[in-house]
Amino acid sequence: MADLGNPKHTIEIIQKYQFAFQKKFGQNFLIDTHVLEKIIGAAGVTKEDLVLEIGPGIGTMTQYLAEAARQVIAVEIDTNLIPILKETLAGYENVIVMNQDILKVDIGKLAEEYNGGRPIKVVANLPYYITTPIIMGLFESHVPIDNITVMVQKEVADRMQVGPGSKDYGALSLAVQYYAEPYIVANVPPNCFIPRPNVGSAVIRLTRHQKPPVEAEDEKLMFRLIRASFNQRRKTLQNGLNNSPEIPYTKEQIAAAIESLGVSPSVRGEALTVAQFAELANWFSGLEIEK
Ligand code: SAM
Repeated sequence: MADLGNPKHTIEIIQKYQFAFQKKFGQNFLIDTHVLEKIIGAAGVTKEDLVLEIGPGIGTMTQYLAEAARQVIAVEIDTNLIPILKETLAGYENVIVMNQDILKVDIGKLAEEYNGGRPIKVVANLPYYITTPIIMGLFESHVPIDNITVMVQKEVADRMQVGPGSKDYGALSLAVQYYAEPYIVANVPPNCFIPRPNVGSAVIRLTRHQKPPVEAEDEKLMFRLIRASFNQRRKTLQNGLNNSPEIPYTKEQIAAAIESLGVSPSVRGEALTVAQFAELANWFSGLEIEK
């Protein structure tokens, strides 16, 4: 079986099928065997695993995953890639290709059907235009997941990983860190792809917490508090929450909630950890108010 990690083979396939890259689908195909091996290694894929691959492209990483995993389900939106995948994955009996938009797939159902509801691994060189909805969708829908190991835009990987005190810290950092432990596996330059993207990339592994560091009784409320704090990130937390139409509490209640954290009344939202946002949400959940 041709190893598509070799750029020569990728070019041959693209020419044979006269494949036209579609920018709107974020198509940048990996052509670096070291990076491919690193991704599979970081995901810790074993012969026990069901792996969901989002956007297999011409099947480069899919071949590596098929070698390492028990079963691979690869979801690809671009119909023009389906005949190519048929050829490049012909030698693998443990791969199912689905021609669908990943944002419309019921992944929980796949995990149930193909993995008996046990946690799956998600591995992908993601289409960058939908990185956040894909990752947040996976977490928020509470699909059983072991880890998500993905190539994303470098800046986005940094935002997922940083803690309070950095200018990159924001709603995405908090959301990711509530659900998972992020770890940047490698930085990947544009010349590892065909065609070359205009931005640097990084592989990040998000290992799902068995339990969040602090559990929010009402996750939706916690995320409303996070959004309200970061919508006005230069304001104090008190003012950010007072001014937000999403937050129904009085000035006094907000002040008392902030005080309960044992932080300064003039603290900014960007100084709080995810555990503190969860505590804040739990304080409000304890109030009996009309929303
Ligand atoms: N995995 C391949 C590789 O590493 O060479 C291709 C990665 S490329 C960055 C992203 C892939 O995701 C493309 O094949 C693209 O067509 C596919 N894609 C884009 N949007 C998608 C969506 N909504 N659902 C499923 N696949 C999608």
